[in-house]
Amino acid sequence: MPAIQITRTDAPKPKPDMNSLGFGKYFSDHMFLLDYDPQNGWHDARIQPYGPLSLDPASMVLHYGQEVFEGLKAYRAADGRTLLFRPIENIRRMNRSNERLRIATVDEPLFLEAMKTLVRTDIDWVPTLPDTSLYIRPFVIATDPFLGVRASETYKLLIILSPVGAYYPEGMDPVSILIETEDVRAVKGGTGETKTGGNYAATIRAQDRAKKKGYTQVLWLDGVHRRFIEEVGTMNVFFVLDGTVVTPPLEGSILPGVTRDSAIRLLKGWGVPVEERRLAIDELTDAAAAGRLNEAFGTGTAAVISPIGQFNVNDTLIPVCGGQTGPLAQRLYDELTAIQWGRKPDTHGWTQEV
Ligand SMILES: *Cc1c(COP(=O)(O)O)cnc(C)c1O
Repeated sequence: MPAIQITRTDAPKPKPDMNSLGFGKYFSDHMFLLDYDPQNGWHDARIQPYGPLSLDPASMVLHYGQEVFEGLKAYRAADGRTLLFRPIENIRRMNRSNERLRIATVDEPLFLEAMKTLVRTDIDWVPTLPDTSLYIRPFVIATDPFLGVRASETYKLLIILSPVGAYYPEGMDPVSILIETEDVRAVKGGTGETKTGGNYAATIRAQDRAKKKGYTQVLWLDGVHRRFIEEVGTMNVFFVLDGTVVTPPLEGSILPGVTRDSAIRLLKGWGVPVEERRLAIDELTDAAAAGRLNEAFGTGTAAVISPIGQFNVNDTLIPVCGGQTGPLAQRLYDELTAIQWGRKPDTHGWTQEV
């Protein structure tokens, strides 16, 4: 594995107020870079002071969106260790995204070492207040200066770090969800199962409409039948129907979340029945009408578990769990966060020290 060159900043930034970090607003002192060209493969691994990039205006990423990204967190444990949660899953998912976007894949050990070395370099940016963490954002961009549509021959992989606040400073807060009936997020054969920027650009309009009507997120339906539930905002979605947990299957248009997979494994380990199957919106409304919809929640790295308090389906409001956080959502949140912050023994081998 090539050595990572480290150039330290001689002007460290003042740290933000750790009590009001929010999400994705502040960036640490350093960033990781790696270059790709066909002759040298991925090369020139380096950490340097955080700062603007110089890019040719014809860089392909700026025109055709050939890019992928990832998101995971580093957690400061009470005993001083800094832990990553299932980082290899993010690395493998990024390489699957790369393959879909015709971007060269990255050597797994080098990628892991890059994340760990960067976090160690900026270790004083890992916040220590309860439930705060350091968000890690790796991404790859196509850099050929060329205006034709084809795969770029050159790329840059970067990793940046952002200290982020407690998602639920006042306890878990169930959200209101609007079912999106006009726009679609993804279809099979498209790029819905990859983390590529274009997927998110296409969702902003629906997101804005939902916000204007007073909803936190949209619930995405499948793009063909406009009937089957896919995801909620940028989270995977789970329902508890008569004590059975149901979540849509990974059939090509849904992002395979690491939190989704972890939740399924925990639930099965607790003996809770879990079904990965299609769930039509009318099955959901029927179940709610019959009093069989016990809980609903989203899963993702940022919020971990996001309980859903109500749905708006064609202007009919469907309350869930009396607008409260359900017991399974709470138990999953407590268990996952206890493992992530090292408060509980990690019997699954999910955490790694940086
Ligand atoms: C990142 C993401 C998720 C959640 O994935 P995690 O690995 O759990 O963070 C779900 N849906 C979409 C669309 C995403 O981009």
